[in-house]
This record gives sequence, C-alpha cells and structure tokens, in this order.
Amino acid sequence: LVDAVATQVGVALIQAEAYASLQDLNEQLEALDRTRSNLVAITGHELRTPLSTIQVCLESLATEPDMSPELRQVMLDTALHDAERMRKLIQDFLTLSQLESGRVQWHPEPLSLAECVELSLSHIRARNLESNLPKIENCISYDLPLVLADGEWVVEVLTKLLDNACKFTSPEGSITIDVTHPNLQALEVTVSDTGRGIEPNRLETVFERFYQEEGALRRSIGGTGLGLAICRQIVNNWGGEIWAVSAGKNQGSQFHFTIPIVSEPIETNGFNGSTNGQ
Ligand code: ADP
Repeated sequence: LVDAVATQVGVALIQAEAYASLQDLNEQLEALDRTRSNLVAITGHELRTPLSTIQVCLESLATEPDMSPELRQVMLDTALHDAERMRKLIQDFLTLSQLESGRVQWHPEPLSLAECVELSLSHIRARNLESNLPKIENCISYDLPLVLADGEWVVEVLTKLLDNACKFTSPEGSITIDVTHPNLQALEVTVSDTGRGIEPNRLETVFERFYQEEGALRRSIGGTGLGLAICRQIVNNWGGEIWAVSAGKNQGSQFHFTIPIVSEPIETNGFNGSTNGQ
C-alpha cells in the first residue's frame, strides 16, 4: 500500500511539474508574441519616418522645376541620408533577428585581438573620411594571448562600440581602447570615451532594442538603436558579458566586454597512451 501511495504521489508530482512547465511555456510564448508585435510596430514606425522624408524630397524635386540648385542639393542630400538610414536599419534588424533566432553559423578560431582592433579602426576611419573624429588611442598590444571567437563578429562588436564612441564624443574629446586580463579564461576589452556620458539609470536600458536617448523623432545623430542589442547577442554567444559604465551626463562612457582566450593545451598523464598531444 505504501508503495502504491508513493507511486501515486510521484505521478501527481510529475503531473504538477508538467503543468507548471506548460504554464511557463505559455507565458513565455505570450511574452514572445508581445515582443514581436512591439518590434513590428517600432520597425514600421522607424521605416516610415525616413520613407516619408524621401517621398517629400522626391515629390518636390519632381514638381518644382524652378527650384534653386542649392535647395535641389539639400533635397537630394536629405533623401540620400534617409535612404542610408533605412538601409542600416534593415541591415541591423536582419542581423539581430538572425542572432536571436540562432541562425548564425559561428566559426570560432584563435585570433589576435590587436588585429581585430586594427581592422575595426580602419573601418571607422574609412567611413568617416570627411568627419573630424575625436583622437583615438589604441592600447592593445600584439603580445596578448589569442582569443577564441569568430573574427567577423569580434570586429562587428568593436566597430559598433567605436562608432558610438565617435558619435557621442566631440572632436575635441578622446577615445581609448584598452584591455585587461582579469582571469585565466578571458580578456576584458574596454572602449572608453570622454563624450556625453549616460545617466546611471540608463546603463542597462541602452542595451534594449531601439533605445535611443533622444527618441527616434528628435534624433540628430544617425543610428538605429539596435547596435548595442546586437553587441550583447554576439558577446553572449561566445560566453562573455558586456556592460556600460558612466558617471553620468557629460562624464564620458566606458563599454566593457569579456572574450575567452585560447586555453593552453592540457597536459595529461596519458591514460589513453598520449601525452601532450603526442
Ligand atoms: P544607436 O544606433 O542609436 O547608436 P545603440 O544601440 O548603439 O544605437 O545605442 C543605443 C543608445 O545608447 C544610443 O542612442 C545612445 O543614447 C546610447 N549610447 C550608446 N553608446 C554611447 C556612448 N558611447 N556615449 C553615450 N551614449 C551612448
């Protein structure tokens, strides 16, 4: 009898557990659905705004043949600027959804962090040929241990952080890229700037999709509001963490992320007959 009762209690417990997990799953699906609707609404809004501007510019160009050459140039520049904003938004949106749905093929390999930083700096310089960038100090040396990650994505994270640092720092300010070796498993990379800073209560919010301090409509500096969300997805994929530090408005910001280093070959006493890879 005791055994029978125990079995029944066991079955009841399993059923209760299964029910709880189903409820959990249901809640998660509902949350996912809400997120998806929000995303569609926000993306629609973010795409409609530049599209309307492009339409107004093209309509004016088409219907006002006597427009002055200066105004014509302004209209063309505005339309091109907003078309570029739409292109970036669509690209970032696709990247983020690929990352979130696990459809990215990762190819981790031993990499020199210094090389990744150099590559990322050359992207930043090429994109800003005509802008006056703040001074960038690169303190990453070639002597560091190799990191284990997918190079393309390491460069993507560095470029997005450097791009932000350039956007939110005046040309008189400065940006520093540095690294520490906090433990045997990882390096910690820091991109710091002397720019406009982040309020302490926003240090986590900045990683949310579409978060921009000015809001989409009042934004004067380009950007999609997806960059840091993408960085977090990438860094989490290699098992690292990414976070922001700032003392507040106009106090500059530091973005830190960790990245695993290649572990040394493990010396075994060879119970399978091999030592040190022999
Ligand atoms: P965006 O495309 O707008 O740069 P991100 O996701 O990269 O989108 O950043 C989100 C927001 O976080 C930015 O719009 C800005 O408000 C804030 N932010 C990001 N980097 C910095 C920085 N280095 N200094 C100050 N604010 C920053």
